[in-house]
Amino acid sequence: MSAVLTALIFFLTFPVCAAPPTRSPSAASTAHIKVGGVAYVDARVFLTRLGLKATWVERGKTMRFQSAKDKIELEADKRDVSLNGLRVLMGEPAVFRGSTLYVSRIDANQLFLPILRPSSVTSPPVPGLRVIVIDAGHGGQDTGTRNKQLNLDEKGFTLDVAKRLRGLLVSLGYKVVMTRTSDRFVSLQERADIANRAGADLFISIHFNAVGGAPSVRGSETYTMTPRYQRSTGSPLRDPSDDVDNPGNRNDPWNTLLGYHLHRQMLGKLGSVDRGLKRARFAVLRLVNCPGVLVEAGYLSNDDEARKIGTPAYRADIAEALANGVQEYASSISAAKK
Ligand SMILES: [Zn+2]
Repeated sequence: MSAVLTALIFFLTFPVCAAPPTRSPSAASTAHIKVGGVAYVDARVFLTRLGLKATWVERGKTMRFQSAKDKIELEADKRDVSLNGLRVLMGEPAVFRGSTLYVSRIDANQLFLPILRPSSVTSPPVPGLRVIVIDAGHGGQDTGTRNKQLNLDEKGFTLDVAKRLRGLLVSLGYKVVMTRTSDRFVSLQERADIANRAGADLFISIHFNAVGGAPSVRGSETYTMTPRYQRSTGSPLRDPSDDVDNPGNRNDPWNTLLGYHLHRQMLGKLGSVDRGLKRARFAVLRLVNCPGVLVEAGYLSNDDEARKIGTPAYRADIAEALANGVQEYASSISAAKK
């Protein structure tokens, strides 16, 4: 089947520009249902068309989808998916109805499709990749998170990783713009403005995490902009603000693809605990006009991980993983253009 025809079939069956939840999905097809106001599609039908073979791991509960290169495990009533060994958070849980496992239409279009077959994403067009903006989180009076006991501040580590990443990306031939190169305060709006003024093709925001009262929590998380009409990973319920069309939503499918590659490379390189590929409407992700990602590479509130982050070797590994992720993303979008 030609790529054009395949793309057309996808567009007709699962429009990539997802309709608002208030609009009825195609009621004529048994592959579509609505649960709690959310449109769902038959996971088996959708993923089989992407070349994956479906088998029940536990009937009525867990289904495995596999091809030569991809492997997914979906579980009813869960937003967590195992996708090629990574923890990925859907916007809505999978649901089991009748004898069928369903995923939300937006997850099908904005999460699975760009990762599994970026060439079938029909809108927006495949982005270019020349100018990369690196955003070192925090700075100046905004120290970010800190480990008081070990006297470690987030703002210095984000800048160090950003500079290392800049070196790697420049040597790969990209034009790199930094939102800061010294210990100074830059507002969130200004960070996005710098990217938009530079005509950025990619925006990477670097952070480290912390959680109070849970010193054992550690690992790496990657965030992309929450797709329009979906709730963020941390939101238990939908909210009218989910329907707002933010600049960061122009690239919903490409945000996912970027986040997937960076998260995958980070986990592979660091061997850190997989805290998931997640969605949030962080200001910088909301305001940028290009595909964007925010990485929380590790937890400063975990003493063991904080000590690692405190070593130049570990920060060099983080930068290398992110550069490798950019290269994987570049290969994917380049293949999708053909
Ligand atoms: Zn931060």
